[in-house]
Amino acid sequence: MADERTLAQRLLDGDRRALARAITLVENEDPAGYAVVREVYPKTGHAAVFGLTGPPGVGKSTLIGALTKARRAQDRTIGVLSIDPSSPFTQGAVLGDRIRLTEHFLDPGVFIRSMANRGALGGLSEAALQAALLMDAAGKDDVFLETVGVGQAEVDIIDHADTVVLALMPGSGDSIQALKAGVMEIPDVIVVNKRDHPLTETMVREVRGVLSLAPQRGWRVPIVTTEASRGQGIDELVEQLDAHRAYIKQEGTLSERRRRNLRNEVLALAVGRMRRRLEEGLQDDETFARLLDEVVARRLDPASAATELLEKTGADV
Ligand code: GDP
Repeated sequence: MADERTLAQRLLDGDRRALARAITLVENEDPAGYAVVREVYPKTGHAAVFGLTGPPGVGKSTLIGALTKARRAQDRTIGVLSIDPSSPFTQGAVLGDRIRLTEHFLDPGVFIRSMANRGALGGLSEAALQAALLMDAAGKDDVFLETVGVGQAEVDIIDHADTVVLALMPGSGDSIQALKAGVMEIPDVIVVNKRDHPLTETMVREVRGVLSLAPQRGWRVPIVTTEASRGQGIDELVEQLDAHRAYIKQEGTLSERRRRNLRNEVLALAVGRMRRRLEEGLQDDETFARLLDEVVARRLDPASAATELLEKTGADV
């Protein structure tokens, strides 16, 4: 007999294929994807969402592999979303072999997915959040969002997480520039991976130096050293992730943080739609074309043109 459950129902029942299908729909910005999210949304909020970011090659995938193993041993189910905002070329399957999670591919308790760049501004970040919600709804206890790098796009994605982890490695001092420069907010946990490297202590000192300059909040950011490729230090990392989660729950900042993230999400979706609507409306608009001619000819500056445009469309802001 044909399965009469909807895609959303099958997803809620933990059907992997339904989850994969639903993620593809949101990734393609298919309205059917949003419909699934709408249906399952009331059932979300159960998963612990961890964001892991850091420069390429520091061992993020290896760390997630090791964390997955440790979490499975605690009988928790895992969703991994690996996102590469910088590369328009890496598509799902190709990224897959970059992920050092091969031993988990056959484990029904682990769901792994990659996402690459989307054309739309902010689209990837939105798709990533929707995918994380779908994993949450499918019953995953832990969701790991992994992004490469520490640019703005990565930070936007990682901001969806309850706990943000920055991975670094010894001997690459410039990788903490993003922290120093304030591109990235101070993360909740810092991992210095490849502790088998002789410069580990130097790196830890340097990170401690940067942290000491940051304004102190209630949570003291731990620096955990690991050797992910041999599973060393992973227990301590797991402990710190749990400790952070317990802290934000106890302090009430988990709901605060989620509220802030959801606020950004709602705004981002609204802005995206407004932009699309504006662009569609202007496609063959002659007045707009003339306005643009003025800007090109340097008779009108871009900001004044924007003001005129908004006045014209009645969206005066
Ligand atoms: P990602 O680009 O940050 O995801 O990094 P990968 O997880 O792909 O790891 C990059 C390389 O570093 C791989 O060759 C790993 O085997 C290696 N690697 C990962 N963890 C460690 C570690 O703790 N020590 C050493 N020496 N190598 C590691």
